[in-house]
Amino acid sequence: MPTHAPGVMSGTALKAVPYRQLHFDRGVRPFLVLWELTRACDLACIHCRAESRSWRDPDELSTVEVTKVLDDLAALGAPRPIVVLTGGDPFKRPDLADIVSYGTKLSLRMAVSPSGTPLATRRNLAELRLAGATAVSFSIDGASAESHDSFRKVPGSFDLTVNACREAVDLGFHLQVNTTVTSETVDQLPGILRLVSSIPAGLWSLFFLVPTGRGRLLTPLSAEQVEDVLLFLAEISKVMPVKSTEAPQFRRILVQREAGYNMVPSTPLYAQLMKDVEDMFPFDTPSHADNSGSASISSSTSAGTLGRTRSDGDNLGDGRSLGESIHSGPARRPLVVGDGYGVVFISHTGEVLPSGFLPMVAGNVKDSSIVDIYRESELLNLLRSPSGYGGRCGICEYRDICGGSRAQAFAAYGDPLAEDPNCPFHPAQSA
Ligand code: SF4
Repeated sequence: MPTHAPGVMSGTALKAVPYRQLHFDRGVRPFLVLWELTRACDLACIHCRAESRSWRDPDELSTVEVTKVLDDLAALGAPRPIVVLTGGDPFKRPDLADIVSYGTKLSLRMAVSPSGTPLATRRNLAELRLAGATAVSFSIDGASAESHDSFRKVPGSFDLTVNACREAVDLGFHLQVNTTVTSETVDQLPGILRLVSSIPAGLWSLFFLVPTGRGRLLTPLSAEQVEDVLLFLAEISKVMPVKSTEAPQFRRILVQREAGYNMVPSTPLYAQLMKDVEDMFPFDTPSHADNSGSASISSSTSAGTLGRTRSDGDNLGDGRSLGESIHSGPARRPLVVGDGYGVVFISHTGEVLPSGFLPMVAGNVKDSSIVDIYRESELLNLLRSPSGYGGRCGICEYRDICGGSRAQAFAAYGDPLAEDPNCPFHPAQSA
């Protein structure tokens, strides 16, 4: 169980603040707009939130309706939000490049999250790049074709996805790779790290399964296992830019580590993940863990260690060593944003939700401006008020920088203000 860090929120115990705050009011403008342009997709992944299908819904927003929303977002002025066009597979919309181009001309930062299908070609990606998209993301849920394709239940998906990732990097996109963390995929994380670093992706995002949509068929980790994966992620963040999705307690863990607290793993998972990483990156390192089993193993798995050039010929085939492909600067500091506060989701039919994983509707862009809905929705305003959260999240000393996943709370209790069931932390007030 993580040790409590009394007084840490005062900031006095921290050498550096390991998270970033937005420089504007999260209740006035979103930082990130996730937009499910369509539910159509040629894949049928078993964890799909959107329960996608191969055909387009006739009730999808039209091109004109989409551009109206982009106009409203642009009217916010700087800093304008990042707009991520997702799905389904956004390539199923023939107007995708036009939408990207329109948003770019409005000075919106446009990103696209396609599926790993035959539509993710160099030609189609290049068209998006020309239209002004600067970032793309793809999902990789296994370190090999066998593991990825069996998780997604789509033969050939792995090769298509990895090829599309490499093309995207070659075209100058910032590449984010998303990985769904479940009991079925967790042992793949070290291998995926190696793959992601070799592509190389600019950011690795671990999405902690919310049991909704087809995701109900998968097995989530226990709260203690989630904690151990986040401890692993904190170590890996020294060598690879990472983020967590639907697990905001990662920020609490980073603060506790920065304050020098001894973060003891709760399960064997952490040690196994770290061992597997070091087996894959076999440099002349000391032992992967100290005798206490503490998570403080940074002296062995550090940027200075993984970042070394290998001498056993295991390079990437293009002259770069594995170490050279890995980030060597300061760890990326996660932003303090969450479902409905800083982040908002638009469905293919125009519904506005706090998150794609929190199925509560705040309004519809067919009826109102996205900006008005974002600012005035009672639901979104409740989600922005951590003092109104229930259970441990409501009394937690970290609630203002974490707050728990509102989507995880809703999936577990049917109440988006309930405590996050995936966090094992016991706040000081509950002691
Ligand atoms: S109890 Fe809630 S607010 Fe506190 S660290 Fe855990 S998820 Fe975050």
